[in-house]
Amino acid sequence: MYDNKYLANLIFPDVTETLDDLEKRYPERNLPEGAEVTRFAPSPTGFLHTGSLFTSLVAQKVAVQGGGVFYTRLEDTDTKREIAGSGEDLIRQLAVFGVVPSEGYLGDHQEGNYGPYIQSERADIYKVAIKHLIEIGRAYPCFCTKEELDEIRNRQEKMKVVPGYYGRFAKYRNLTVDEYVELINSGKPYVIRFRSLGDHNLKVEADDLVRGHLLLTQNDQDIVIYKSDGLPTYHFAHLVDDHFMRTTIVTRGEEWLPSLPTHLELFEAMGWKAPKYAHLPVIMKMDNGIRRKLSKRKDTEASCAYFLQDGYPVYAFKQYLFTIANSNFEEWQIANPTLTIDDFHFSFDNMSRDGALFDIGKLNFFSKEFLAKKTAVEMTEFVKDYASKYNQELLDLINKDETYFTKVMDIEKDKPNPRKDYEKCADILDKVKFMYEPYYSTLMKGELPWSTTLDHEVMKATLKDFGDTVELNLTEQEWFETLKQCGLRHGFAASKKEYKAEPEKYLGSVNDVAEMVRIALTSSKNSPNIYYVLRILGKDEIVRRMNIACETL
Ligand code: GLU
Repeated sequence: MYDNKYLANLIFPDVTETLDDLEKRYPERNLPEGAEVTRFAPSPTGFLHTGSLFTSLVAQKVAVQGGGVFYTRLEDTDTKREIAGSGEDLIRQLAVFGVVPSEGYLGDHQEGNYGPYIQSERADIYKVAIKHLIEIGRAYPCFCTKEELDEIRNRQEKMKVVPGYYGRFAKYRNLTVDEYVELINSGKPYVIRFRSLGDHNLKVEADDLVRGHLLLTQNDQDIVIYKSDGLPTYHFAHLVDDHFMRTTIVTRGEEWLPSLPTHLELFEAMGWKAPKYAHLPVIMKMDNGIRRKLSKRKDTEASCAYFLQDGYPVYAFKQYLFTIANSNFEEWQIANPTLTIDDFHFSFDNMSRDGALFDIGKLNFFSKEFLAKKTAVEMTEFVKDYASKYNQELLDLINKDETYFTKVMDIEKDKPNPRKDYEKCADILDKVKFMYEPYYSTLMKGELPWSTTLDHEVMKATLKDFGDTVELNLTEQEWFETLKQCGLRHGFAASKKEYKAEPEKYLGSVNDVAEMVRIALTSSKNSPNIYYVLRILGKDEIVRRMNIACETL
């Protein structure tokens, strides 16, 4: 007659440490009252997902604002899904977004007293915990082959009952210890399963920092906690890690909420106090009128790298994610334009429970505001840095004459309320092309939005006159007066109002003149402020452009 202790020793003969030893090795952290320990625990399975960045920003904020600890842990127990190098990439990308932990897995090295912070290096620690569960009868070896598991599933499908390995379907749950010992000694491969005491018909109470007090269905599944490759599954690994790394709040995506009863039962079985949990909303997207989760494969917005490639300012992207994190953030930021995210107090109470809808319009708003605040020199630096990473054509343009580019970036910067021309660097080349040859000539060879009602000869005469008489040392208002005078000389009223009052007397108004000058200079009806454009181009270039424009009429 063997007992559980014998079984535990048979399975883990080399494990001599106890849970007590681990408790001593990883003591409670000495932190001020109210300080939280949070973590970001990515799996090395690909690029930095927008949802993961969101989760990490929240975790970091919660720890930092209360003087706590934020650390990173690499969850690499699922070796089949691992993509080589992606752990280090994730840490590098997080740093770009200002998520720099003070402790944990830091890509090329690890830092801190609660490590190792890479799960595959913690096998010995997990074994101590699993050995303990076997000793107390809360875990057992399961020898099911894939075929046997398939057979169980088929039977459950036919019976129309909940699928899984539980109760009467848990084939190896109720063997005697002697039977386990005999099977192990026969060399049959096995995994270790948790022995659940839950009942699927009963509820368990749980508190979630985002969702409040919850009544969830109890777990009754004997989940696998230790695989045949010698590593635990996520469920068990996170439990041991968050306990011994002394995490106080687990912030993770809401896709883990259904696993919460299992995790709470595991904590109870281990005799440990569970940390607080915060299941964060998933970022959704409207797709043909239907709300759905951002898809890693289908949606470019799912990847943080996409926003960098598009040249969104990192800070604006973070501001945007904070609007998802806390419903009062946007109002707070607008009311306190000089304060930064670091000054904002985050609270789980102000987090929406429903999946947040990805709102590119809001991101563009923050981005435009952010870029508009930069000086021309800062903007040039910013765009140049972007171009050097992502856009050679734009970089060449800047390098040709950086002073000239800075002047283009300086348009309207002296106004109290300048137009917010740019929302991301990827748009800039197209928006400033007209200021450069050979782009300008090419644009003027394309379709031009000239008026379809005005007489072309009149237009040519007006544009030529404009070029010949333009003066550049005037204020914007004075310059606009000269534009009116030019229009008047060719039959255009000095204002729209005057034209409307006597339409038979005029060909149009100064607005028509401004529009034709704009098209002549830029090839488009939408452009930055013409007064500034003129001053950058200079007299000779203006005359040249009026001539080129007249040739297209
Ligand atoms: N490794 C898990 C994931 O990538 C993390 C879940 C957690 O934070 O506990 O989804």
